[in-house]
Amino acid sequence: MSRPAELASDSPPRWSELSATGRRVLLDLLVHGPRSRIRIAERLGLSRASLTRVARELVDSGLILPGDMLASASRGRPAEELHLRPQAAHFVGVKVTAERVYAVVTDLAATVVDELSIALDSPTETNVVGAVVDATRTLMARHANVSALGVGLAADVLRRTGEPLVASSPLLGWSAPVPLARLLTDLVGLPVTIANDVHALTAAHHWFGSGVNHRSVVVYGVGAGIGCGVVIDDELVQGAHGRSGRVGHTRVGRTGRECSNGHTDCVHSFVSMPAIEANAGVAPGEYALALDRARAAEGRERDAFAAAAYALGTAVAETVDLLDPELVSLMGEGLDMLDVDPAAFEEGLVAHLEQVPRSDVRLDRPPFAFGLYARGAAATAIREVLSA
Ligand SMILES: [Zn+2]
Repeated sequence: MSRPAELASDSPPRWSELSATGRRVLLDLLVHGPRSRIRIAERLGLSRASLTRVARELVDSGLILPGDMLASASRGRPAEELHLRPQAAHFVGVKVTAERVYAVVTDLAATVVDELSIALDSPTETNVVGAVVDATRTLMARHANVSALGVGLAADVLRRTGEPLVASSPLLGWSAPVPLARLLTDLVGLPVTIANDVHALTAAHHWFGSGVNHRSVVVYGVGAGIGCGVVIDDELVQGAHGRSGRVGHTRVGRTGRECSNGHTDCVHSFVSMPAIEANAGVAPGEYALALDRARAAEGRERDAFAAAAYALGTAVAETVDLLDPELVSLMGEGLDMLDVDPAAFEEGLVAHLEQVPRSDVRLDRPPFAFGLYARGAAATAIREVLSA
């Protein structure tokens, strides 16, 4: 994708100078789209006068435009309507996996406008930092007004006191706490936000996906592992130590591969692409082969997908019992079990719901692309500059 020429001379907005009310108005437009001044004032409990003042501030900083100043004004947008100006700022979002670093650039509306990926020889701390810095610098050279960097990875991110620390990441083989945000800030010269990847996916889903307009949402991310993100009362639940949403070692009551804790009957024994490969009897990395065989005929491969579907249903039931969310969204690149054996998922779900009618459980499976993880990381950076 090429850089839109009109943006070349833009510089990032001065976020730190923005008023608290300005941030709230911007966030409302970001999540809910263009609105009339009257609706915004009502929703945010602002007087007409203070909204006028804030709207002027946001227009002056180039972050929003009144409807009559849009390029599409010929279609008759009223001046009363306020619109985000998406090109006013860009954000870099990065998803780190054990094999690659995936990076995207989004505009202020969290629309992806550019992307790239860099292979990792091994996911050591040094290699990951180097690849994230390379990716960010390359994208900053293409997009002149980058405001912040967000990084998502399969790890606990401790943010209770002081700077956020990546506590540990079994998937990357990191055990000691890593001050990743500080390391990256020093090298790229941007504010940096670090988040658990599924938490980032969840935050973005709540703002921009089918989670919009739901005050409580649970998101499952299933792929190389299984993660869970929780939104309650419109807030992402981080937990006291950044560890909320751990569902992977819930016991399922069947026998599968041994997990890292030595269980053979937990969610990790069945749900995740490596677990399915192991239970299907194919070599690591041959998930696609196992899937082809499972679709073609009965047998061990089909059983592995069925057991994964049952275990995922069990995990979903546990969070529904605990949290009673309005919506559960199933996301990730490893959800083929739902197509191979949807009945097994329902069986695991219904067997573990506690006095909850199945009809009260709202599930969806939004369209998924792997880039949503990196976009989620960018969304956490947007959230950070708007809440600072
Ligand atoms: Zn386990």
